[in-house]
Amino acid sequence: MSRIKFYKEQSLPLEMHKVRIIQKLNLLPIDERLKAIKEAGCNTFLLRNKDVYLDMLTDSGTNAMSDMQLGAMMVADDAYAGSETFYKLERVCKKFFGKKYFLPAHQGRACENILAKTLVKSGDVVPMNYHFTTTKTHIQLCGGRVEEVFIDEAIKITSDCPFKGNIDLQKLEKLILEVGVEHVPFVRIEMGTNLIGGQPVSVQNVLDVSGICKKYNIPLMIDASLMTDNLYFNKVREPAFMDKSIPEIAKSISDAADIIYFSARKLGSAKGGGIVVNDKALFDKMKVLIPVYEGFLTYGGMSTREMEAVAVGLEEAMDIDMISHGPEFIEEFARILASYNIPIVTPPGGLGLHLNAREFVGHIKEEEYQSASLVAAIYLVSGARGMERGTLSEERNPDGSEHIASCELVRLALPRRVFTLSQVRYIADRLAWLYDNRHLIGGLRFVEEPSVMRFFIGRLEPTSDWQEKLVAKFKEDFGESL
Ligand SMILES: *Cc1c(COP(=O)(O)O)cnc(C)c1O
Repeated sequence: MSRIKFYKEQSLPLEMHKVRIIQKLNLLPIDERLKAIKEAGCNTFLLRNKDVYLDMLTDSGTNAMSDMQLGAMMVADDAYAGSETFYKLERVCKKFFGKKYFLPAHQGRACENILAKTLVKSGDVVPMNYHFTTTKTHIQLCGGRVEEVFIDEAIKITSDCPFKGNIDLQKLEKLILEVGVEHVPFVRIEMGTNLIGGQPVSVQNVLDVSGICKKYNIPLMIDASLMTDNLYFNKVREPAFMDKSIPEIAKSISDAADIIYFSARKLGSAKGGGIVVNDKALFDKMKVLIPVYEGFLTYGGMSTREMEAVAVGLEEAMDIDMISHGPEFIEEFARILASYNIPIVTPPGGLGLHLNAREFVGHIKEEEYQSASLVAAIYLVSGARGMERGTLSEERNPDGSEHIASCELVRLALPRRVFTLSQVRYIADRLAWLYDNRHLIGGLRFVEEPSVMRFFIGRLEPTSDWQEKLVAKFKEDFGESL
């Protein structure tokens, strides 16, 4: 384990890798950041990366690759059909998940498209611990509906529950009986629930859910995109698995599932995705959709270089030294923020640090997007770009009113192995300043609101001149040039 005791320092996360390639970053002065965020419609998705100092938007496709991955990319076997690289990836995926059949896809949501098109019909209900944005949309586009059956602790912002991602077994069984087994095409477990703060699922919960699925003969699907963080937490938080190796824990989880899919933009620290199953009939049904939506069966929309990188990345995902960096940095980040009394989601999860915007900027009206306002303010004062994970990421109710999200969060993703501890300390320090000046942060309103997944490309404006006031106060405290 890389978190070790120090002699004089308090214990710190210790990197088990060294940096051999770097990318120069820009830190624009605050006046230029103000211009950039306005041009981006106050939506951090629309910022240009050259205007960003620390890109904490997402961990999707932004994790640092290893020397072994880069080396493998150089020897990829380029072919449309029958590439050796594909067979290598297929072999690694089958081994990693212990399943017989593998289908490639260009990213996680592409797997969701194939799975939803194959399994979901009109009127179906898919129970899950928590939805992911693209998962929900694919199910809805096929006429289905998502029902979340998370444990009550899941959406408690501050908690000491080690596995807030768990499914509530009673709620699950009740739902299955209410809607009828024939309307439940599968149960989905998202390992490391993205939208509630990268919170993990216990192995025991996966086994229990699998028991219920078997009882009703419903397939269990696992979204393994955030599986590496989840495996780390199983090892350090779940007493029954502390003595088990990462491959042993992974096997216990995979064996309980019928269908597993993943985004290799996260799991595998590269780009791509895939689906694994044991059921030949299901495999054959999905197989015909791959050439239609993704590409031929031996590349599925991935370049052979990407496939090489994923194959090596999956092997590395079995190494505790390679997967502990992310969660341990997030824990350190959380420890610093907690020492400033800044409201965060606890316990810290995987993929990023999550701020509780509902408390941070509770003075902003919920209809004026607390999380989106906070994430724009964070960019202004630090140059770091986070992601809104709250009401703006929801869709409006059928009557046009806002659907207020159960959690109003800002995510500061820590792409794996990318940032240093001093960069984490810098952003923590800017957050401390922002928290002390939080009364200056105001709300946002839409100027362009797309009807589907508005958070990606919607444009907003401040409801007052609060951004100018925030900038003025910042300059007073830090000087003109920061
Ligand atoms: C990112 C993510 C996806 C989608 O993966 P992409 O490769 O970005 O399309 C699906 N599920 C979860 C849990 C994710 O975190």
